[in-house]
Amino acid sequence: MTQPTLHLDASRPADLARARGLLAEGKLVALPTETVYGLAALCHLPVAVARVFEAKERPHFDPLIVHVADAAQAEGEGLVSAWPAGARALIDVYWPGPLTLVVPRGEAVHDLVCAGLPGVALRSPQHPTARALLEGGCRPWVAPSANRFGHISPTQAEHVLADLSGRIDAVLDGGPCPLGIESTVVSFLSGIPEVLRLGPIGMPALARVLPGVRFGQRVLERPLAPGQLARHYAPRTPLRLHTSPETLAPDARSALLVLGEDAPPAAAIFGCVVLLGSEGDAAAAAAQLFATLRTLDGEGHDRLDVLCRGVGPLWDAIRDRLTRAAAD
Ligand code: AMP
Ligand code: MG
Repeated sequence: MTQPTLHLDASRPADLARARGLLAEGKLVALPTETVYGLAALCHLPVAVARVFEAKERPHFDPLIVHVADAAQAEGEGLVSAWPAGARALIDVYWPGPLTLVVPRGEAVHDLVCAGLPGVALRSPQHPTARALLEGGCRPWVAPSANRFGHISPTQAEHVLADLSGRIDAVLDGGPCPLGIESTVVSFLSGIPEVLRLGPIGMPALARVLPGVRFGQRVLERPLAPGQLARHYAPRTPLRLHTSPETLAPDARSALLVLGEDAPPAAAIFGCVVLLGSEGDAAAAAAQLFATLRTLDGEGHDRLDVLCRGVGPLWDAIRDRLTRAAAD
């Protein structure tokens, strides 16, 4: 694409209407959700969906999440063939919100959207900009994170432009995303509900509604087989994740990012030290994580060392992102 990317302001009704119009024409619009910025294209327009893969350089085997106003819209649009037991219970409690459900796909779901898989991933976003579009008559859209594939997810409009300017039609600027990490993904395709990706809604919160929920194989294997991890959420600067200060190798050419605690003594020898969140406030660390990684990545350090040893579901979700950012 040679057209410049339009920068729209989500607080202006005329810009929201413009975004809605662009989507209806099959254009690509990056927009804020409560998790990260998504690159939206209407789900029922396969040419637009194909352009999402192109703009991101995302491989076609990686399926997209479809954003809907609510469960009724998902049914009405033919996106789901039947709600598995338990899915409706989670929807009743956590939609709209940062929870994606993989359910048997309906007849209207194009193969491109779900990479030919038997399930489709659905989520109802809660961000006021996304809600205004969906409740203002927008049809469901696919929306992977609005970044180049494998790079750090965008939590501000500037991050979107840094990765995709000139490759997408518009970005609808709604300020920083409040949660800062991607949605929790739960699949209902194997009979027993399985968590495929950790996220803002943790295991205890899911288990309260769905006592049988368990971790999927990919989530369980991740810490055991780091060599097999897809590199994802990754800065260009090599990143090392530490779960104890003992493994830190201080170096004046490296930057140290400390999550959820005070700086360890070794911090004095690093060229740059950033502290994020506190032990009791993983939410603050999550909200700033990707923006901080982008800033540090732009500063020319030889290496980024990240110390993260918080205990709790949101800390686990943060460590999941860091583990993949550190993978070779
Ligand atoms: P994102 O890259 O943030 O858009 O998230 C997409 C992720 O959701 C994928 O990498 C999968 O883990 C999961 N997902 C999306 N669609 C499906 C699907 N049809 N079947 C299984 N998992 C899916
Ligand atoms: Mg992504």
